[in-house]
Amino acid sequence: MIAAFRRGVRFRCTRCGECCTRLSANLPLSARDVRRISAHLRMSVRSFVAAYGLHVVDRVRHRGGVIDIPSIELQVPASGTCVFLDSERQCAIQAVKPSVCARTPFVEYVAEGSPARWQEALSYCPGIGLGERYPRARIERLLREEMASEAAEIDAIVRSGGDLARLLRTQLPPPLVRETTTTGGERHGTSIPRTAPHPERSRPALDLPARRRRSDTVKGQGGSEAGRRRGPARRRRPSGPTRLTS
Ligand code: SF4
Ligand code: SF4
Repeated sequence: MIAAFRRGVRFRCTRCGECCTRLSANLPLSARDVRRISAHLRMSVRSFVAAYGLHVVDRVRHRGGVIDIPSIELQVPASGTCVFLDSERQCAIQAVKPSVCARTPFVEYVAEGSPARWQEALSYCPGIGLGERYPRARIERLLREEMASEAAEIDAIVRSGGDLARLLRTQLPPPLVRETTTTGGERHGTSIPRTAPHPERSRPALDLPARRRRSDTVKGQGGSEAGRRRGPARRRRPSGPTRLTS
């Protein structure tokens, strides 16, 4: 855990949207995220994935063999700005934003990341240093909750026979396979371009319920980027610069 987290951190997201413009990788979506966001957008899961998602299989090679871990990622354009950041720099899906966004910065990717990553976050996130203090014990609890959530996701996929389409009760496009190996707890893999490889796809205009303005509310604990996974039993999260979230 980075030293700042061991000491405790004050944090209150101001919803400035800055971190949503600094994405260096696609955002991982849990099956629950996919269902919730699809429903919020009044889209079928299949249509949502076709418009915004990427079906990925992380093929993790480790000493014990090979394990395939399917997932859906929210595609991030080459600009690094999330497609759901609106013209007022607000999250258009705030009420159902991905769990990775809702957990930031108290996620493994940040907590177990490099000090430089945290320094980068300090350079642009106005929410660090504001609000209530998160002591180490609380941060550790949040990290455990993140891990438990991911373990539950893996269990659900396993119970569905490793078939994410079955879990989501929909059809999915063929997955892009990402080869990954593990050595000594670290993961190394080929990357998949984050830009949508489906140029023909078209995204429907968002038809969203009215949202509260930034000044109306103070976001609780922020949301975020995925953490790197250490072992084959954990979902892979895209690595990249620190991103927090609105
Ligand atoms: S909170 Fe997450 S989903 Fe919403 S705009 Fe930011 S990165 Fe996108
Ligand atoms: S977490 Fe993101 S949206 Fe929230 S204050 Fe920090 S940079 Fe701004």
